[in-house]
Amino acid sequence: MTASSALVLFSAGQDSTTCLAWALDRFERVETVGFDYGQRHAIELEQRPRVLEAIRRAFPAWAARLGNDHMVDLRGFGAIAESALTADRAIEMQANGLPSTFVPGRNLAFLVCAAALADRRGLARLVGGMCETDYSGYPDCRRATLDAMAQALTLGLDRETPIDTPLMHLTKGETWGLAQTLGGRALVDLIVEDTHTCYRGDRTHRQAWGYGCGECPACALRAEGWAAFGGAA
Ligand code: ZN
Repeated sequence: MTASSALVLFSAGQDSTTCLAWALDRFERVETVGFDYGQRHAIELEQRPRVLEAIRRAFPAWAARLGNDHMVDLRGFGAIAESALTADRAIEMQANGLPSTFVPGRNLAFLVCAAALADRRGLARLVGGMCETDYSGYPDCRRATLDAMAQALTLGLDRETPIDTPLMHLTKGETWGLAQTLGGRALVDLIVEDTHTCYRGDRTHRQAWGYGCGECPACALRAEGWAAFGGAA
């Protein structure tokens, strides 16, 4: 196992792409993993090879460190934990205070699968874009949840399994700023052009901050962050 290595949970969104750049900036060997859990739209799955290819093209030093991309089929899990992301239901706040986009146990299932894959691939740590600053009400994105999960994985796999969450305490505006620090304007432009965030899977409307419907909660957060970052209107 290379000590300086990581497996990045990568969905081709703004956050996980910024995390991938963060890992490529630090670690000698980096691989990516994505999960097919029966998302309502396949845009995320279509964009991931495009984002990876764009990173390889724009950042040759990072290309040398970027290894395999893995896709894990979790449609069985998606069928159990049906939510607005996987079924045709409205995106809204539920009576229990959680948004209907919350998939119970999703991040926990991702982390178990990622840890198993990292073990097999000889990768030392996991990196994820979880964030509790612009708290969307996802209890599995809290650092406390991830600390408990890292401990469970370390015990259960009998190997140290740290989980890095570089965005945990950043606002969405600061996440754009981190991208700028890591990869300059070229990385910011790549994130705008190639990453995908919109819950509705809209890639027909081009906003200043990238493609999206401009109305769903994910687009609203991305637009707010872009404005706070001082991105062009
Ligand atoms: Zn949207």
